[in-house]
Amino acid sequence: MKRSIKKVALINPAKPRRSSSAAINAMFEKCKKFIRPWFIPPLNLLTIASYFPPDTEIDFKNEDLSTIDLSKEYDFVALTSMTLQAPRAYEIARTFRHRKIPIAIGGIHPTVVPEEASRYADYVFLGEAEKTLPKFLDEFKAGSPKSLYQMPQDEHFDLRNALIPRYDLLKNDQINKGQDYFNMIPVQATRGCPHDCSFCIVSKMHGKRIRKKEVSQILKEIRTIQRLFGNRLIVFVDDNLFIDKQFAKSLLVELIPLKIRFCAQSDIGIAEDEELLQLAYRAGLQVVLIGFESLEKESLFKLDPVNWKYNHMKYYEGAVNTIQDHGIIVYGTFIIGFEHDTKDTFPILRNFLIKNHCNAQFSFLTPFPGTKLFQWALEDGRISSAIDWGKFSFDDIMLYSDNIGKKATEDGLIWLYNEIYDEKAFSDRANHLKKVLKKLPARWNLR
Ligand code: SF4
Repeated sequence: MKRSIKKVALINPAKPRRSSSAAINAMFEKCKKFIRPWFIPPLNLLTIASYFPPDTEIDFKNEDLSTIDLSKEYDFVALTSMTLQAPRAYEIARTFRHRKIPIAIGGIHPTVVPEEASRYADYVFLGEAEKTLPKFLDEFKAGSPKSLYQMPQDEHFDLRNALIPRYDLLKNDQINKGQDYFNMIPVQATRGCPHDCSFCIVSKMHGKRIRKKEVSQILKEIRTIQRLFGNRLIVFVDDNLFIDKQFAKSLLVELIPLKIRFCAQSDIGIAEDEELLQLAYRAGLQVVLIGFESLEKESLFKLDPVNWKYNHMKYYEGAVNTIQDHGIIVYGTFIIGFEHDTKDTFPILRNFLIKNHCNAQFSFLTPFPGTKLFQWALEDGRISSAIDWGKFSFDDIMLYSDNIGKKATEDGLIWLYNEIYDEKAFSDRANHLKKVLKKLPARWNLR
């Protein structure tokens, strides 16, 4: 039976509360003046939206910001899901399916547990959907859709063929007003990461080779955002925007005239290249997120296949100072719960961050399905196969070191946040940055 695609919903399901620990939630509440969560619309849904026929009415719903009307009629509903969102995604799927509305699901979680996802959805998308979605749409219209859509093994979408994401689906009131709003607009220039860390799914999902959009395409996307929303803060969601330094420089040079402000992720390799740092500052890079993971050498050992992070730990301190001396705030991300953590892990981290005026975020080591860490945790009996995906938030203790135990791990994290995000530590960091910026010329108009 032929079917129409006149009205579809693209839904990003709500995430549960930050942590199931009342003490951790209380700590975040206390520090909220200093730790502002990043609210970023799901770029994957905006991206796939551009593959629908122009006459399709798309209801783009981000459940973290607005409620979903589960009684509405759609030709089909498409859900995206990270592991944390899976319980809610399945709940939404069940409700629509009960009303005989077909469900498609994709995203990281269904990609790594397709059998599970297929119990709740009619069509499961594994990996990137840019190539499989057009095929699905044709087959759906023809009345013969398949239950599984997957890119061939080890094949990835060529980002040079990317379409501009449907930023127009974001509403102005979600961008400009209220407390529950998107404070950053996402752009993606590249996909992939060569490091293949044992706790991370990125290299498996997007490959170890860096794929890039054309610079001209990225500029078009940013101009679209500027046209729709003015000069909002942009976040490059690439896992490592600066890893291909030549590409990064060619992009940054073109960004300078656009006068944007943006955040991005990198490894500490950015600190080795003076020209790259200068260009990044000039182009408007304000904050760079760097995954340091740990300051314990044993924890970094064999974290990635070539010991990249282990071998670079000795440069951490110098890298933070070099990057910040160029007017770019370093936001370090660290993992708590490695086997080798001890009670000293917490003061070592605190002292490093205070000494180097470095902002930070701490996450509990989380064994995401599909990762080597997940396999190890399962085989070692650290997790069971009956897992509550809703706890995969990074703020719930999943794994901890036997050296300190679960309670001391939680207490250590709370102590760390309180140390790093108190009035004095925060204003010391802000004053340090102000001093640095005073010495630097203004952004964008440097020659
Ligand atoms: S943690 Fe970061 S560096 Fe490691 S594989 Fe994931 S994206 Fe790459």
